[in-house]
Amino acid sequence: MLETLKQQVCDWNRALPRYNLVVWTSGNVSARDPQTGLIVIKPSGIEFDDLRPEQQVVVDVDGNVVEGLLKPSSDTLSHCYIYRQRPDVFGISHTHSNYATAFAAVGKPIPCVLTAMGDEFGGAVPCAGFALIGSEAIGQQVVEHIGNSPAVLLQRHGVFTVGKSGKDALKAAVMVEDIAKTVWLAMQLGTPEPIPAEDVAKLNFRYQNIYGQ
Ligand SMILES: [Zn+2]
Repeated sequence: MLETLKQQVCDWNRALPRYNLVVWTSGNVSARDPQTGLIVIKPSGIEFDDLRPEQQVVVDVDGNVVEGLLKPSSDTLSHCYIYRQRPDVFGISHTHSNYATAFAAVGKPIPCVLTAMGDEFGGAVPCAGFALIGSEAIGQQVVEHIGNSPAVLLQRHGVFTVGKSGKDALKAAVMVEDIAKTVWLAMQLGTPEPIPAEDVAKLNFRYQNIYGQ
């Protein structure tokens, strides 16, 4: 079932190491099928190079396995919690990408000091609290703190991103690491100043409504 979405979820997962966002088996991407409401997610503990479309696990919105021979990602219940609370979300990613996770390690949001952040995130990237892996506790932190941003940091853990598709969630994961690296570098040179809120709103509107083809 959901052969096309399984292929896409496999491709989006395999893109994570290509963009240097994960090592070994950490990190995952899932996507929700708009027709059935079922979720396709990476299997637990499989290396990205070995991932195949048919290994992707199909679960319902409560995390029960509907199809799949392998155990789903250990973050599955948190992904499901986010999908239940956010009907607008059809893709989720999770990584421990280094620069963004460095902000998470000290529990600090990434301040909005770059136009690219106004474009993509509409402000600072918030930092949620600490939660243990394995239940929906991480999902609760994500929903509570993400606001209108497509990305949120998880204190002492990593990054979660959401989007209208798995590809959008993947893009947000790439962008959050890119801006986190630049902001970190800027902090070595001085104290970067936040962009005023009204300019952030203008940047975000232009990028979301006018930019592109
Ligand atoms: Zn993690």
